[in-house]
Amino acid sequence: MTIFRGTFLDTPDSPFAGGGLRVDADAGLLVSDGMIVARGPFLEIRQAHPAEQVVDLTGGVVLPGFVDTHVHFPQIRAVGGLGLPLLEWLDRYALPEEARMADASYAAGVATEFVRGLAAAGTTSALVFGAHYADAMDALFSAASEVGLRITSGLVLSDRLLRPELLTTPIRAYAESLALANRWHGVGRNRYAVTPRFSLSCTDELLATCRDLMEAVPGALFTSHVNENEAEIATVADLFGGCDYVTTYDRHGLVDRRTVLAHNVHPTDVELKMLAVGGAAVAHCPTSNAALGSGLFPLTRHLQFGVRVALGSDVGAGTGFSLLKEGLQAYFAQQLLGDQGRPLTAAHLLYLATTAGADALALPEVGHLSVGKRFDAQLVRPADGSPLAVGITHAADTEEVLARIFTLGTPADVQAVWIDGHLLHH
Ligand SMILES: [Zn+2]
Repeated sequence: MTIFRGTFLDTPDSPFAGGGLRVDADAGLLVSDGMIVARGPFLEIRQAHPAEQVVDLTGGVVLPGFVDTHVHFPQIRAVGGLGLPLLEWLDRYALPEEARMADASYAAGVATEFVRGLAAAGTTSALVFGAHYADAMDALFSAASEVGLRITSGLVLSDRLLRPELLTTPIRAYAESLALANRWHGVGRNRYAVTPRFSLSCTDELLATCRDLMEAVPGALFTSHVNENEAEIATVADLFGGCDYVTTYDRHGLVDRRTVLAHNVHPTDVELKMLAVGGAAVAHCPTSNAALGSGLFPLTRHLQFGVRVALGSDVGAGTGFSLLKEGLQAYFAQQLLGDQGRPLTAAHLLYLATTAGADALALPEVGHLSVGKRFDAQLVRPADGSPLAVGITHAADTEEVLARIFTLGTPADVQAVWIDGHLLHH
C-alpha cells in the first residue's frame, strides 16, 4: 500500500446542488491495489499505517484526473484551423485528416500523439470520438492500453453526405463495430462506444443498426453530435422530414443513460425535456463552440430541465486537450450570456471536468478522491516564478487557488498523473 501526502481538492457533491469544493490540506490517502482505502489528516493515516511507503506531493495541489467527454482521436493534427464555421471547417481541416486514417501506420502515429496529449493534460478518462477505419481504431485502443488511460471509443459511422472514402454501409458498420467491440470492450480499461458521426451523415437504416449494436454490446456507450450549428440543424431537419435533431436519435432508442451527445448549443425545450427524461448527458465543448462561432451554450436551460452536463475538449475544433482551458472558456461563455448565463465558481469548473464527466461516462469508480474510488489523480505544481506560481502564493484561500489554476494553468503545470495508483510516464 502507498500513502499519498498532499493537498487534495475535489467535488464529491455537485456545486449545482448545494455541494462545494472539498479541501483537505496535508491529508493522507491510503491506496491499495489502485483503490483509496483510507483518507484523513496525514499524521493520523501515517500513525495507523507506519510501515507503508509515503509519496510526498506537498508543495502542489492534487486534483482528480480529468474526464474528457468528447475528443476526436484523428483530429490532433487539425487543431488551430481557425476562421470557419462547422461544415466548412469539417471539409477544409477535419475530414482530410479523417481520410488519412485509412493508412494504418499514419493512424498509429496519430494515436500515440493523441494518448500522450490526453495524459499530459491530466486527463485520465475520455470518451473518444474514433476514426472511420477499423485498423485505426485498433491503433487507438493499443496506444491507450500502453499508456493505461480509461478510454471509451468506437468506429465512426456515416453512410451519406461525407467524402466517399469515409462512408460505410449498415451491414459493414455492424460487422466491423462488433468485431472491434469483441476485441476491445472490457479489455483492460477500454470500453466500446457506438458512434454515428452525426445524423446529418447517417440514414435511418444506419441509426437503426446503431440500436442493434447497443443491444449486441452490453455496457457500451452511445455518442454522437447534436445541435451544434444552425446550418447543420436546418440540414438535419430537411433530411428527416422536419423533425428535431434529438428525435433523429430518440426514435431509434438512442437517447438514454448510456448516451453522450456533444454540443447541444441550440436545443428546443422539447429536446431538452427528451434528453432529461432519457437520462442522456451533454458534452459541453466551449472552446470549440467559440472557435467555430457555434454559439454560447445554454447551461441554465440544461440545468432547469435536469440534463446532465460535463466538459469535452472537442479536439480538433477545440483548441487543445486541457480541461483547465475548457473550464475557463465555459466560465467566459456564461459571463457573456449576461442574465441568461449561469455564474460559475472554480468549484463548478472542477466538478464539470471531473465528477460530472465520470457520471456522464458511467464510470462510478472515478471522478473524485473519496474512499472506495480508484486513485486517478494529477499533481498541479507550476514552475517557480511562473504567473501561476505567483498567483497561488498570493491567493487568499484554496478556492482562489483553484480559480487561478483554471485561469492560468496549462499541461506544463501538470507535473504527474496517476491512474489506479500507477504513475504514468509522460
Ligand atoms: Zn466533435
